[in-house]
Amino acid sequence: MIRWCSFCQRYIGEKEPFEDYGITHGMCEKCGETAGSLNKAFFQKTNTVIEYFRKLKEYVSLGSPIEVEKIIKEGLELGVKPEDIAIGMIQPLLYEIAKCGRPGG
Ligand SMILES: [Zn+2]
Repeated sequence: MIRWCSFCQRYIGEKEPFEDYGITHGMCEKCGETAGSLNKAFFQKTNTVIEYFRKLKEYVSLGSPIEVEKIIKEGLELGVKPEDIAIGMIQPLLYEIAKCGRPGG
């Protein structure tokens, strides 16, 4: 799985299962260091952003009709950059497409 920092929106590596190209959110070392000197609100915000991307992935993966404007508004209110919202929507689709090309997928 691809590890993605929820705070600075950067790639932070991969983790098992490596054959799964889905994104899992976490915090990079640099943000972790910054977080160590910040208060509880920081963690709450980070967890809210993690939950936002989890929900986004779920919506897109299910292929169900989504309220795009509502989702974008929610992301912007959390301080998520528009390009990261777009990536959050596109990535699960690419994942599903990649699964179709895999033997047994
Ligand atoms: Zn980071």
